[in-house]
Amino acid sequence: MGAGVIRVGNGMPEFQWDTIKRLNPSIAIAVPSFVLKLIEFAEQNNIDYKNCSIKKIVCIGESLRNEDFSLNTLGKRIKEKWDVELYSTYASTEMGAAFTECKAGKGGHHHPELLVVELLDEANKLVKDGEPGELTVTTLGVEGMPLLRFKTGDICIAHTEPCSCGRTTMRLSPILGRKQQMIKFKGTSLYPPSLYDILNHISYIKNYIVEVHTNDIDTDEISITIGVIDPPQNFEKELKDHFRAKLRVAPNIKIDTPENITKIQFPEMSRKPITFFDRRKK
Ligand SMILES: [Zn+2]
Repeated sequence: MGAGVIRVGNGMPEFQWDTIKRLNPSIAIAVPSFVLKLIEFAEQNNIDYKNCSIKKIVCIGESLRNEDFSLNTLGKRIKEKWDVELYSTYASTEMGAAFTECKAGKGGHHHPELLVVELLDEANKLVKDGEPGELTVTTLGVEGMPLLRFKTGDICIAHTEPCSCGRTTMRLSPILGRKQQMIKFKGTSLYPPSLYDILNHISYIKNYIVEVHTNDIDTDEISITIGVIDPPQNFEKELKDHFRAKLRVAPNIKIDTPENITKIQFPEMSRKPITFFDRRKK
């Protein structure tokens, strides 16, 4: 590509901004939630980030988009502050390849010379066109540890119509969820991220946990406990209506304080917050 690469460590906004100022890179590769930290640091320290040399950010590790390719909460929060070109990707070290979206932002393009891709159902059969399935890859470019029909555990949809950019390769949707986390709720299949995206949009919800358990007729039941600060009147009904509009079903909702939720999210020995608790009968 003829591109020079500047490698910097992670997690230090001051160092990143200093490097950007000194070397004027035009593209950054970054975890999107860290981009928010960069913006926050720039605002607190009067760095004119909107006019810096960075014009594009290739985002890794976290998706920027919803299933319909609109920007998700994370993508919107970056764009609201900074009108930079954002590109979402899906990749893993094992695959030795990435699905990266083009300017159209309609899914990560498949590189057929690097990977054979299959989307499989519960019975390991190919799903029908446009249906969600488990992303299964066979590597063509990896030496040493090639993978043969490696099941990623990630549920995605393949889009096969030609893209407006001119490429005709398959485009991969954002991950709908992890296979083990699929919830069958009142006749609808859904994954925790679709619940998170709704909850992340609501300003009075500070944090939350999602629990799924098996009810007495052996189907899945969802309970969401939310930590709220200054909620509006009748918010419980509004919240349920909001879930119904987005997902066609409404989970049980319990209210708690943000402090109590934080305690549940960080059980002993856990450094990462846990948001999803699977209490279903196996
Ligand atoms: Zn394209």
